[in-house]
Amino acid sequence: MSLAPAPSSIVVQKYGGSSVANPEKIRAVAARIARTRAEGHAVVVVVSAMGDTTDELLSLARQVTEKPDRRELDMLLTAGERISMALLSLALNDLGVQAISFTGSQSGIITNDSHANARIVEVRPYRIQDELERGKVVIVAGYQGVSYRKEVTTLGRGGSDTTAVALAAALGAAWCEICSDVDGVYTADPRVVPSPRKLADLSYEEMQALAESGARVLNAQAVEFAKQKGIAIYAKSTFAAGAGTVVQTRLDAPPEPGRVAAVASEEEIVLLRAAGLSPSERLALFGKLDSCGIASRQVAEDGGALCVMVSLENAHLLRQAWDGVRAELGGRASLVEGLGTVSCVGAGIGATHHVLRKSLEALASQEIALASLSMTADRVTVAVARTQVKEAVRALHAALVS
Ligand code: ASP
Ligand code: MG
Repeated sequence: MSLAPAPSSIVVQKYGGSSVANPEKIRAVAARIARTRAEGHAVVVVVSAMGDTTDELLSLARQVTEKPDRRELDMLLTAGERISMALLSLALNDLGVQAISFTGSQSGIITNDSHANARIVEVRPYRIQDELERGKVVIVAGYQGVSYRKEVTTLGRGGSDTTAVALAAALGAAWCEICSDVDGVYTADPRVVPSPRKLADLSYEEMQALAESGARVLNAQAVEFAKQKGIAIYAKSTFAAGAGTVVQTRLDAPPEPGRVAAVASEEEIVLLRAAGLSPSERLALFGKLDSCGIASRQVAEDGGALCVMVSLENAHLLRQAWDGVRAELGGRASLVEGLGTVSCVGAGIGATHHVLRKSLEALASQEIALASLSMTADRVTVAVARTQVKEAVRALHAALVS
């Protein structure tokens, strides 16, 4: 029999890799969870792998092969979260709080079979619900699921956020906390811009655009799920007090249209360009990208020149894809490497050319050359040399964020 009070509502808390980086931190996180439990909530915890474990596992794979099989990569990468889930559960039990850990598969996270970048298609959290009813804290390994063919999958980098929000939705949680070493969402990365402003709240749309532009505070698919189900996400610090940032449907008046909410960047971008493609060659090119599990950030074609922007974050087989494209198209295809992107995000900023002009002025004044430029209703994105990304972020933030 559990002596904990009857749970009044379910709370989902996700802890990022830096919050569980060592045994001491794991014990501190366990104490934080115990406090939430003592307040009377039923608690489901989603964990990332300890510290840089995922990067280290990927680097091990690369030392073994240049062309890793994505199924085997997923078997490897999911091990990271299994370690942290079990350690956290042990730490909670040691504090006298009954806990049990589950893998993504045991938690009923069903995904498609797109290894290394799978999407959650269904959540069947029956085992979690049973254990919550028994009064236990349930610890779930983030970033992973299982396909209908019973293959273990991962959800793409930063995917523990997605696990947390998907579970919050499936369990009808009161809210979802994303706890990390940053205490909220800022107008730019605080490690790049000297004193950015913390945003008290953001709309789902703005947060999604920021995440898709490379901001790492919250995963883009997680925000998409939260938006569909109307779940409030609180991005806050694990160990420091403070309100953090809430992402939810805006209850008050929307911000002034055309205002830049924040600047985001991504440092691992390549552009694949191809010219003079026949319809079948064009189809084959995208087929090749899909068969190598490569998603694109942007696709545009004009005057016979196709330009595909790819983020290297989840593109583990870019070499293989490029070899294939090159074999088909020869010198008509080129790969521009060593790029990054910088994006200004804000509702309605694409309605005029004002933000675009100011961005171009700011970049020109720093003599930063553009490899590509694009604008949508809520985003202006430029690709620049990777070595100039940080400088470009600082220039755009100074010129456009007040
Ligand atoms: N450990 C995985 C990563 O580093 C998943 C996550 O942290 O959300 O991307
Ligand atoms: Mg991680």
